[in-house]
Amino acid sequence: MPIYLDNNASTRPLDGVVEAMKPLLGAEYANPSSLHRFGQQVRYKVECAREQVAGLINADPKEIIFTSGGTESINLAIRGVLAAQPAKRHLITSAVEHSAVGRLAAQLAREGCRVDEVRVDCEGRLDLAELEEKVTEDTALISVIHANNETGVIIDAERVCEIAARHGVRVHLDAVQSAGKVAVNVRELPAPLLSLSAHKIHGPKGAGALYVRGRTRLTPLTFGGRQERDLRPGTENVPAIIGFGIAAEEAAALGPERIDSIRHLRDDFEARVQAAISIAKVIGTEGERVCNTSNIGFERLQAEAILILLSERGIYASAGAACSSGSLEPSHVLRAMGIDPQLAHGAIRFSLSRFTTEAEIDQTLAVLVEVIERLSGMVTT
Ligand code: PLP
Repeated sequence: MPIYLDNNASTRPLDGVVEAMKPLLGAEYANPSSLHRFGQQVRYKVECAREQVAGLINADPKEIIFTSGGTESINLAIRGVLAAQPAKRHLITSAVEHSAVGRLAAQLAREGCRVDEVRVDCEGRLDLAELEEKVTEDTALISVIHANNETGVIIDAERVCEIAARHGVRVHLDAVQSAGKVAVNVRELPAPLLSLSAHKIHGPKGAGALYVRGRTRLTPLTFGGRQERDLRPGTENVPAIIGFGIAAEEAAALGPERIDSIRHLRDDFEARVQAAISIAKVIGTEGERVCNTSNIGFERLQAEAILILLSERGIYASAGAACSSGSLEPSHVLRAMGIDPQLAHGAIRFSLSRFTTEAEIDQTLAVLVEVIERLSGMVTT
């Protein structure tokens, strides 16, 4: 059986998710906007899913806008806020954003928006003093990644919200990698906008949500029907939304013990890798991190080679590097953290899930030691 340690890329849909979706892919095909009973039966299920997703972040169901995923939620939040406040043309993000924010910010800059990227320290922690310095009268929005997809590092969202509130600026949190792994409570965290994605929490692909607090003004990206409070027109992806609801409910019910057991497996894995492989160094461990993510650099090795050998042995992980024009460039996240390129080039992201077992971690460690030995020709201790 292959060992899947790429859960930050996507997760296995829960059996309950798949079962709940099946009727909506077949017999329950009515349009939830139809007024007849058949349509209203489907509408009822969509509204139950909205309650389940709201429950994950302690939101009011009315504040949940279903979208096609994290990327669309992020685009709606950022473009929507900027379009609703045309007099303000300044966006603040960080240097370690997912491309859904990073590439959108680059596009907005081409369209004439002023974009500032706040730096992080060598542990991936956001420079809050710099963030506050960058805020001006012209700032429309601060959009930051809550838990980093490559390193798992969690930014201090409370402090970001405090700074924003002092200056009357809105905050959007990209919570795609944090929701379900740490408590995200929008009643305690005063960010008026927050993005979620179903397929990162054992739900289906093609469903996400944007949390939009109360009367936060947003201009939609697309125009059409009156669905989703006029903010996301178009007939809903009902099967995926229903699956998302179940996944959100299960994630909310996970409980601190399960989260701690994932963290324990991850910490144990990191300790054993560093003990067995002298050229291994875990990246971004000083700050707070989500329980499942481990980014490990292997000095002077190429991530691609490690990944291929691991994959041949049935172990699936990801690179902390992006392949551009045939060569593996260290990821912008590791570069922003100032990680030595010799380490960053060989950075592998292992991301666990609630299904990861101790036996899988033992097997991964054994294979990893062999792979690194083979690639480096070095003797491990
Ligand atoms: N934001 C973060 C932090 C992510 O990790 C991802 C996906 O990898 C996204 C946004 C995009 O989400 P989706 O794949 O649902 O569009």
